[in-house]
Amino acid sequence: MPQINTTGDFDTEVDVLVVGAGGAGLVAALAAHAAGATVAVVEKHDRAGGNTALSTGSVPGGGTRYQAEAGIEDSPERMAEDLLRQSGPHEAEWLTRQLAAQSAPMVEWLREDVGIELELITDYKHVGHSVPRLHAPRSRKGQDLVDDLVRALEEREIPLVLGHPVEDLLLDDDGAVSGVLVRGDRVAETRLGAPNVVLAANGFAGNRDMVREYCPDVADAEYFGAHGSTGEAVAWVRDLGAKLENIGAYQGYAAVAYPHGSITSWTTVEMGGVLVNPDGERFGDETIGYSGFAADVIANGGAAWVLFDERIRDYVAGNELEFRELVELGGVRTAENPRELARFFGLPEDALAATVEQTARDAAGSADRFGRTDFGFGPLQAPYAMCRTTPGLFHTQGGAAIDADARPLRADGTQIPRIFATGGVAVGISGRTGGRGYSSGNGLLTAMGLGRVAGAAAANVPLPR
Ligand SMILES: Cc1cc2nc3c(=O)[nH]c(=O)nc-3n(C[C@H](O)[C@H](O)[C@H](O)COP(=O)(O)OP(=O)(O)OC[C@H]3O[C@@H](n4cnc5c(N)ncnc54)[C@H](O)[C@@H]3O)c2cc1C
Repeated sequence: MPQINTTGDFDTEVDVLVVGAGGAGLVAALAAHAAGATVAVVEKHDRAGGNTALSTGSVPGGGTRYQAEAGIEDSPERMAEDLLRQSGPHEAEWLTRQLAAQSAPMVEWLREDVGIELELITDYKHVGHSVPRLHAPRSRKGQDLVDDLVRALEEREIPLVLGHPVEDLLLDDDGAVSGVLVRGDRVAETRLGAPNVVLAANGFAGNRDMVREYCPDVADAEYFGAHGSTGEAVAWVRDLGAKLENIGAYQGYAAVAYPHGSITSWTTVEMGGVLVNPDGERFGDETIGYSGFAADVIANGGAAWVLFDERIRDYVAGNELEFRELVELGGVRTAENPRELARFFGLPEDALAATVEQTARDAAGSADRFGRTDFGFGPLQAPYAMCRTTPGLFHTQGGAAIDADARPLRADGTQIPRIFATGGVAVGISGRTGGRGYSSGNGLLTAMGLGRVAGAAAANVPLPR
């Protein structure tokens, strides 16, 4: 529960204090600094990055100059339409439209003004997007994005204080936020004052109790994100009276390689691969997306095997470093005959052989049993490839209702002053509940997009909408 700062004294004061050093916090700090504010970032762990460092660093921009240069026609309107089609109706559709409108300027600002290496991805499709519009580091590694952002903070001499967990918000005598209380095993208690506090501490996917309360369908899924997403910032704004919106929505992942723990690229599925259950059978239309399909895997035995072929393996390994590493580590098994794969993975031989035959018919014809219409390269061919996987929870998408400047709102629509919510702390744009509404890039769009909005507004120079 946020505490009254009885003395009114602080150890240090800045104009804008940012809690959390992932994509949202680092971008908020850069935006606040660009708008002329003094700013500092406090991070509870000993390194910056959070979930952002674990991601592929793919940031959507609808209508960027890089798309135009590649001959891709896009616009904020088209992007918003795509995201809303995937998400279905939800409590912050206006935010989808706002973030889509601000996305291309953000990507261009990051690349041109801040010096972040981001390039348009054109070699594979992304869930929820009708045209290529995700921009990522060449390596497709979020760590490179984080390294670039941290370097940008250093160049601007913006303090980034690691190993400093914010334990609570501090309030003044009128109940308005006036700073934060830092306390931890290895740091002396410190009171940091700021008239504007940006919460960039991500959501609650790493907090089992909160996941059970708000996202019960993935309560038993393993959490594969960073350890810092423990939900305290969501609890702080909730305790200050913020309304929670889209709180049951999350990003799942249907196919985390087991036991390797890295993602089995969904491009394997988009190019024609399918998922089979412990009975060796397919169980749904995989093209609903890796996030939505995670709940299907949980409901169908809790483990899945991705079946594809050597052609797809080589195509994806040629484009995606993380998948190439998985192949090099032996995470993908190949065989001429599906029965050999079944024996290796302990699946029923007859069932898997029948699934391979049926899938070839489904992919060649027009009437897949589960309604899937796109099989990428077409029917799978020998040699076949397979990877054992488990479903995972990556991050939560719901949080505090906000206004257009990322200020949390109470149920009656009034603002909670002097505080801003971004990323997993704020309402997301991936539907009301579940994982099906998630489009690729929604995580970083709500993190970095709202980070930029919040940083600028906290420095009193709100962004155009
Ligand atoms: C494996 C994986 C792949 C993904 N791929 C993509 C992708 O390609 N594109 C996409 O858009 N999204 C992706 N996502 C989701 C995306 O990573 C997140 O939505 C996004 O990174 C959130 O950014 P953030 O800055 O809000 O949070 P984070 O990057 O998690 O940063 C939050 C920071 O706050 C710190 N913190 C928390 N509490 C406190 C506290 N009390 N005091 C101080 N510091 C605190 C944390 O330690 C952390 O460093 C992926 C997620 C995972 C797990």
